[in-house]
Amino acid sequence: MGRVALVTGAGRGIGRAIAEHLAGLGHRVAVNYRVSAAEAERVATSIRETGGEAVAVGADVSDEAAVGELFVAVEERLGSVEILVNNAGITRDGLLLRMSADDWDAVLAADLRSAYLCTRAALRAMVRARWGRIISIGSVAGLAGNAGQANYAAAKAGLVGFTKAVAREVGSRGITANVVAPGFVETDMTAALGEEAREAARRAIALGRFGTPQEVAAAVGYLASGPAAYITGQVIVVDGGMAL
Ligand code: NAP
Repeated sequence: MGRVALVTGAGRGIGRAIAEHLAGLGHRVAVNYRVSAAEAERVATSIRETGGEAVAVGADVSDEAAVGELFVAVEERLGSVEILVNNAGITRDGLLLRMSADDWDAVLAADLRSAYLCTRAALRAMVRARWGRIISIGSVAGLAGNAGQANYAAAKAGLVGFTKAVAREVGSRGITANVVAPGFVETDMTAALGEEAREAARRAIALGRFGTPQEVAAAVGYLASGPAAYITGQVIVVDGGMAL
């Protein structure tokens, strides 16, 4: 059965693949963006051209008022959000001794505060409907840590605790909350890595290659599905066997 899905940060990268995958499964998809408006419009248009239903909706999901407006807009155009994918995220890497408070705050806001704001906004209708799926995109950096990413690792680890608390809070209402934690995935976020860093990463991955955004999207699609109803509070690692 087709549901209403909101994917944050879905104009490009993993979010885009998730939006396209959920649309392919028959869901009606809100493609959120912050600055990549043209890209998000292209994603929504290509979904509509292939027979799906999608709208692009702009909002900085770390901003409380903007998140309120985002949920009103999605409700008007598609209906209440039934599947929320907290995908939006940024990195501001640097060794902790030199990490500015601005870089700390920016990553915590984009990667963790955004999930809190969107989940809170989505829950009202999910509780009423006694059905909901909340899927947050974490990272293996949030499980194992990563030198140079103290802010990002803290935000992504925060998503795990947040998800477990939400899973306990709303489980009795038929709502599940889970984290999908990718390793290295080919997107703009990892394109910045030099060849030496890429080679070192590949050596640490059992499958010997980076993942694709579609391979992350497939895990999200499963968690959003009816048959995944008994999985909640979990972290599904999609990393090619890197953090074994
Ligand atoms: P990406 O290509 O850099 O895309 C990031 C997306 O997040 C963009 O669509 C961006 O939208 C959006 N975004 C950032 N801040 C936002 C905000 N405040 N409000 C709304 N949207 C915002 O990154 P990606 O690789 O696809 O990463 C997607 C998610 O997967 C992130 O949470 C990331 O941490 C996680 N992840 C990625 C990897 C990897 O290897 N690539 C590994 C582990 C986890 P705009 O362009 O409109 O700003």
